[in-house]
Amino acid sequence: MKPKVYVTRRVPDLGLDMVLKTCEAEVWEGELPVPRDLLLEKVRDINGLYCLLTDRVDEALLDAAPNLRVVSNYAVGYNNIAVDVCTARGIPVGNTPGVLTDTTADFAFALLMAAARRIVEGARYVANGKWRTWGPKLLRGVDVYGGTLGIVGFGRIGQAVARRARGFDMRVLYYDPYAEGLDPDVADAVDLEMLLSQSDFVSIHVPLSDETHHLIGEAELAQMKSTAVLVNTARGPVVDPDALLRALQTQVIAAAALDVTEPEPLPPDHPLVSLPNCIVCPHIASASIATRNKMAVIAAENLLAGLEGRHLPHCVNPEVYPLRW
Ligand code: NAD
Repeated sequence: MKPKVYVTRRVPDLGLDMVLKTCEAEVWEGELPVPRDLLLEKVRDINGLYCLLTDRVDEALLDAAPNLRVVSNYAVGYNNIAVDVCTARGIPVGNTPGVLTDTTADFAFALLMAAARRIVEGARYVANGKWRTWGPKLLRGVDVYGGTLGIVGFGRIGQAVARRARGFDMRVLYYDPYAEGLDPDVADAVDLEMLLSQSDFVSIHVPLSDETHHLIGEAELAQMKSTAVLVNTARGPVVDPDALLRALQTQVIAAAALDVTEPEPLPPDHPLVSLPNCIVCPHIASASIATRNKMAVIAAENLLAGLEGRHLPHCVNPEVYPLRW
């Protein structure tokens, strides 16, 4: 008998076809996330869940799914999943690390440059019919080349952003209490206070956890340079949005560029959206065609491995294995 699987959104065919071929799978075809009540109903008989970062996989969901053998998340971040509860129940959880590292780093750097050189403001200026002549003081920004970049969270994506910064002759600082043995030629390890006070650009690359929730708040923003640019492509709640709004409105920092927000989606009438010195994108840092295809395949491989009782190629809770095997 084929295993039963629920897929919470139509992911790229390359991965979805692998699941459809071998499983009795139902796919949620809606453009928006599956309504919570329906999701709790749909998981009742399933053996495998192929889900997105917009689905909350918590104790209540796991209670509703007594036959669940694997949870496969179509993302590298997994803050939407109660991993400890999965582990206690012997359920491996998969994610998609690595394949989105460079795509996400490209986007973080693009945001950094767009905010520094006021590219979005410039495009709006033209679209709004304001461009009448070349101006010596028109839309002046700050130089990226030669600046100091501070990276908060020096893992896969943080290090990939640092590699990009070398091409711009930037000095790179990083804060990561868990990173060890890194090449000091690439970047200098500093504490968070030093990073914030010395950097012209601060780019966030930590996972969202209790420890990193609102890691950047009013006190941290106050330590930054008044000319600094903050970039967040990690998770929205790592930055306190009210504190950021106040800091941007009162020029405590110069600009911000956000791919992730709190909440998501950010309503169009949220004040951060209309601030000229803030760029808000709809959580698209990993959204290249090639990378989204690769993520779909890896998530499918994780799901199928879990259903067949094999180790997941990318498992966030490997401590689950001694409990089951
Ligand atoms: P990673 O695990 O390789 O790196 C995360 C780094 O953060 C690690 O080195 C870790 O030691 C460090 N860290 C953890 N807690 C910290 C703390 N309190 N202070 C400082 N550093 C801390 O993960 P990654 O692949 O680089 O991805 C990072 C995060 O980026 C993911 O967890 C995900 O939430 C986010 N992400 C977002 C997008 C997007 O579309 N915007 C795409 C990919 C990843």
